Amino acid sequence: MGIYSYSKLNCYLQCPRKYKFAYIDKIRTEVKETIESFTGNRVHDTLKKLYRDLMYEKLNSLEDLLDFLRREWERKWNDGILITSKEYTRENYLKMAERFIRDYYKRYYPFNQSRTLAVEERILIDLDGTGRYKVQGFIDRLAYRDGGIYEIHDYKTNMTLPVSEYLENDIQLPLYAIGVKKRYHDVKEIRLIWHFLAFDKEVEIVKSDEELENIKRKVIDIIERIERSEEFPAKPSALCEWCEYKPICGEFKHRYRLEEKTLDDFLSDKGVQLVDRYADLVERRERFLEDIDKEIEKVKKELIDFAEREGLDTVYGTKARARIVKGKRLIFPRRDDERREKLKEVLKKHNLWEELADIDVYKLSKLLREGSLPVDVEEEIRSYQDVEEVEKVYLSRFREDKES
Ligand code: SF4
Repeated sequence: MGIYSYSKLNCYLQCPRKYKFAYIDKIRTEVKETIESFTGNRVHDTLKKLYRDLMYEKLNSLEDLLDFLRREWERKWNDGILITSKEYTRENYLKMAERFIRDYYKRYYPFNQSRTLAVEERILIDLDGTGRYKVQGFIDRLAYRDGGIYEIHDYKTNMTLPVSEYLENDIQLPLYAIGVKKRYHDVKEIRLIWHFLAFDKEVEIVKSDEELENIKRKVIDIIERIERSEEFPAKPSALCEWCEYKPICGEFKHRYRLEEKTLDDFLSDKGVQLVDRYADLVERRERFLEDIDKEIEKVKKELIDFAEREGLDTVYGTKARARIVKGKRLIFPRRDDERREKLKEVLKKHNLWEELADIDVYKLSKLLREGSLPVDVEEEIRSYQDVEEVEKVYLSRFREDKES
């Protein structure tokens, strides 16, 4: 097994097909650097200088740092950098970067909260100690405080502040913590510290040994899953918008081809015609079924009224007879009703649970598709599955997915 990185693992989780393009087929695309990533890199350079100089007893003034930022900005700037927003210019982004540094400087000056051990430090994490599952990463700043407290600092320049659920579930810094824990013998506690520079906000989380152990298992599981994968299905999401493989991905290839066509060629494209015809037929079927359902309800009501008026239980026709039964339907608590759990307990108490509960095969298939079960559990379950080839077409109209 090779060496993994957080971005490699994350790529697989985001979309297995993208992972295949990037890491198996090794397809290189011409990716333009965006202004956002350029800004982030220059801010990282500046904070790296701040702390590296401090390690050599040189404390830069705020003006020194801002000068450095501007110099690096000019030196590394090139006209290929992509600015997608029409509203903001290169100068807006530079001013933003200056603000990030200014706020950070004011918040932490004189930077003696902890002792920096390294900046942009490569860390190699041997997850199970056998060298089989290796992950590498770069820590923006690794620092130490008295009493065996280590800090892993990460600088974020995104313009959105992640919700706490995202930080609780993030595996990048916990992974680095596993590596730091192995590297230093005196570790008592590792603090994971995110700096959201756009909001002048610091978020700190400490993971327990048990939580780190769970993350280790989770990452081993992802690596196992990747290594055993034979298929790398597309997983379309909002993130496709930024995927460099969009023009060659089957999810979007047709759209790209159509964009190059004239209106006439577009309308006579076989794919366009087939989808339109398919969509029309599905719509017609829906309307037809709706009308039929309404008609059935109407006749049913008339039939019940007729039987009641005439004192009949069964009414006879030429093709069939209709028996009218009036009774009561039993309704038990639904999934969202808290009494459902209590009912479950009652059934279990009277040994009826085994008899009444059944496997939710839909949910089970979903769990397997999402790969959210541990690999060994998945393997055990899969030994009972049969595979049937199916072909489905999902129509997306007005943000609505319909299977037929
Ligand atoms: S465009 Fe979307 S579905 Fe296709 S490879 Fe990229 S992320 Fe995956």
